[in-house]
Amino acid sequence: MKRDPMKLFLWLLLVISDVLAFRKEKPVGERAVELMKKAPLIDGHNDLPLRLRILYQNRLSKINLKILNTTRTNIQKLQSGHVGAQFWSVYVICSAQNKDAVRLTLEQIDVVKRMCQSYPELELVNTSQGIADSKNIACLIGIEGGHSIDSSLATLRMYYDLGVRYMTLTHTCNTPWAESSSKQVHNFYPNLNGLTSFGKKVVMEMNRLGMMIDLSHTSDSTARMALQTSRAPVIFSHSSAFFVCNHPRNVPDDILQSLERNKGIVMVTFYTKVLACGRKVVNVTTVADHFDHIKKIAGSKSIGIGGDYDGVDQFPEGLEDVSKYPALIEELLRRGWTESELTGVLRENFLRVFKEVEKVRNDSRSMNENEDEIPQREVQNSCRLDLRNPPLRTSDTLPISFGSASVQHAEPEHPLLAITSWK
Ligand SMILES: [Zn+2]
Repeated sequence: MKRDPMKLFLWLLLVISDVLAFRKEKPVGERAVELMKKAPLIDGHNDLPLRLRILYQNRLSKINLKILNTTRTNIQKLQSGHVGAQFWSVYVICSAQNKDAVRLTLEQIDVVKRMCQSYPELELVNTSQGIADSKNIACLIGIEGGHSIDSSLATLRMYYDLGVRYMTLTHTCNTPWAESSSKQVHNFYPNLNGLTSFGKKVVMEMNRLGMMIDLSHTSDSTARMALQTSRAPVIFSHSSAFFVCNHPRNVPDDILQSLERNKGIVMVTFYTKVLACGRKVVNVTTVADHFDHIKKIAGSKSIGIGGDYDGVDQFPEGLEDVSKYPALIEELLRRGWTESELTGVLRENFLRVFKEVEKVRNDSRSMNENEDEIPQREVQNSCRLDLRNPPLRTSDTLPISFGSASVQHAEPEHPLLAITSWK
């Protein structure tokens, strides 16, 4: 058969250019780092503030956060991990519910603020523009657990004023208004199913304020009801895919589909227990399996990253601390994720959600604050004072209602309590 020399020449040219292009292609590890330099990570969840309380009683004067080595997070590691913004979790244990959860939460907000103000590498911000403009590691605050608001919309509003930009509706305990995914950890409000009517008011007030609704740790029925109620996109700040590991902390496929419609995101977490459900070998490929599955169900635009460093004890091999994020991006590049999909995962998807939440807030300007209070019977908390309509004062004692309990005071606590009739 006679060959056309021109065709042969063109074919050779193509082969040579392919080989040259292949040679020019950088190692995938280098590509991951280059990508992260252009698109630094916004991570949804880090529990360093909890460690600061446990290890140092929030005494920042005792530590050097640049090189701290008792935690998985320090400033040098954040820089090596190309973290551009970090949501610091303001978490207090569920046992503080109906006790001093509000004080403890304020103390955690205080330590995050002081931490971010005392290192030039860190910068407190509270808007999507603030993240985009920051040349440092932007610090944001998220409350982990609705028990921190003590069923009070006024307290929620004050947290917003202090800079809180997301709240996880529950941690491992039910609140009086939202059901948690954890069932055997605490016995608060055991008969709750999903969100109560007050719970929906919390979600709507968060929409009005511009605070993101975080559904990690909530029960599936809470998540479904919050998705139905919210006018803004929601987040899961640190959860993975239920299909890959059927842990109650993870997100089932039907909720992933609703999340795609809601234009929210699930920020995939690295906690070994929720990634691998007891499998022995857990590494970067295990995490990447969750990414692949969520992308298949809800698309790459529904995904972010929420490492949960310093919140749990076990992490996959190769992802032991906050300097290791590039290893995950490298694995996803190897699996064929495009650079534009990964720019979304690293920061753009989160920024899209945050901007939309801010837009819903701006569109709500004509709405008033919700002044409703949770019905006392739904709280069942003997420490909660109810100062409305106290019974008439008798000659020398003033019964003050404590929900179901009541205490007799020989003397009024305050001159106002001495007036003879309240209406
Ligand atoms: Zn958590």
